[in-house]
Amino acid sequence: MRIIAATKNKHKIEEIEAITKEFGMEIISRAAAGVPDIEIEEDGDTFEENSEKKARGIMELCDEITIADDSGLMVDALGGAPGVISARFAGEEGNDTKNNDKLIALLSDVAPENRTARFVSVITMVYPNGRKIVARGECEGHMIDQPKGSNGFGYDPLFVPVGYDRTFAELSGTEKNQISHRAIALQNLRKKLMEEGI
Ligand code: IMP
Repeated sequence: MRIIAATKNKHKIEEIEAITKEFGMEIISRAAAGVPDIEIEEDGDTFEENSEKKARGIMELCDEITIADDSGLMVDALGGAPGVISARFAGEEGNDTKNNDKLIALLSDVAPENRTARFVSVITMVYPNGRKIVARGECEGHMIDQPKGSNGFGYDPLFVPVGYDRTFAELSGTEKNQISHRAIALQNLRKKLMEEGI
């Protein structure tokens, strides 16, 4: 099944490709599908809203099955922040270093036992005929106070998943792709596709 990825984030595309390859899906980047380089404003209040907006926006430009991931980190001690604004938490879209520095500062007085958090991914698949399939995945863990590791992207160096003593950035891509929020969302998507006989 050929599917266009609405995201321009190359780390996300690599993860989505690695995970969905096993399901027999072929992920094509927006650029390779000839989609013009437009920005889709992520102004929704939920991961679900933003995920659907991105998927539909790109599907309407290429008229092919499209998937979008909207994801982020929710830290309990910060009332669920950064949440839907994870990519621009420190004000500048996609500046991982500034985002991590802001998070470290905000959590400086929070005791280790209160640093619980989860990554969330909502994957939306939309078809040119209007059909929509939505799947969510979450990965529980806790935040540490100094970045560790150099793999992955975003908040990976600060997040230790439950059951591990290493951050996402210290895990290999293969290890992260077995337990991540994105992996769980894609597995749930696969289940829904199978239930619908696709
Ligand atoms: P989006 O493009 O609006 O979905 O932004 C997602 C943002 O959430 C990214 O820029 C990262 O800051 C964060 N994020 C989402 N997934 C991950 C992940 O797997 N690792 C680390 N950070 C992530």
